[in-house]
Amino acid sequence: MSDTEVETDPEPSASGAMRDSGAVEGETGPEELADVSLRIENLRKEFGGIVAVDDASFAVESGTITGLIGPNGAGKSTTFNCVTGVYEPTAGTVYFEGEDITGLAPHAVANKGLVRTFQIARELREMTVLENLMLAPKGQRGEALWRSLLPFFRNEVVEQETEILERCWETLDFFEIDHLADEYAKNLSGGQRKLLELARALLTDPEMLLLDEPFAGVNPSLEERLLTHIHDLQEEGYTFLIVEHDMDLIMQHCERIIVMHQGKVLTEGTPADIRSDEEVIEAYLGGEV
Ligand code: ADP
Ligand code: MG
Repeated sequence: MSDTEVETDPEPSASGAMRDSGAVEGETGPEELADVSLRIENLRKEFGGIVAVDDASFAVESGTITGLIGPNGAGKSTTFNCVTGVYEPTAGTVYFEGEDITGLAPHAVANKGLVRTFQIARELREMTVLENLMLAPKGQRGEALWRSLLPFFRNEVVEQETEILERCWETLDFFEIDHLADEYAKNLSGGQRKLLELARALLTDPEMLLLDEPFAGVNPSLEERLLTHIHDLQEEGYTFLIVEHDMDLIMQHCERIIVMHQGKVLTEGTPADIRSDEEVIEAYLGGEV
């Protein structure tokens, strides 16, 4: 039996074991959630006189695709920004994997494994798709892991670069955009750019991904592919929290849904719960149901 290959899996986030361990105990929230990745408690964000997030509390179960919905201005993006360290909350607490991460800087939050996608910045649009991936911020855990796997060879740096390049190609291949490797990011279609944004986020070794309107401006066939990738990644153990306007899509693809309205969490539950919740139907679904 080989004794060298057991502990050298360089992708802890891809391990299914993660989902069965480390349940957060003794905290508030829906009891039916066995293993919580992200929990916010009484999160509040004020901008001057505007209360964008108004004492919101919710939890996201590990390994799920959870939807965050609500009308424009409900506070969804602000919640994402508070959770990922882009904004400092006015009050409240953010827990990730049971650890208080409130107020950490974005890179520190990302290093914990909690990552949101970002639009490709202007500078990066002038670079190729492959360059965009090569420049994706690397988590320190990943770097530490590489180091521990490599003996002290002189060409450690070269080996690291080779490894990064390999991972980038694997990622391009996974998203079926390898043919676009040398294309400038600015020339991609809206949907292709969303794939690239997700690919960049994945290269930071996340455990949980926050996607803010990932399907906006994406044509139906690319949307279908993006969804397939998200489900494939979920099977590998990743957790998703997705803001999306298309109710049918959310109902069809999310196991749990959180509804925000005027900065507050109106309700949360399974798609069936949400569909039958009168408050939600009135506040959000309007006359459509
Ligand atoms: P959603 O993403 O659900 O559409 P947002 O979180 O973007 O909602 O916005 C919630 C509220 O906070 C809105 O009233 C919005 O105008 C306000 N808001 C968001 N960001 C800022 C900001 N940087 N400065 C002032 N007000 C903001
Ligand atoms: Mg928004």
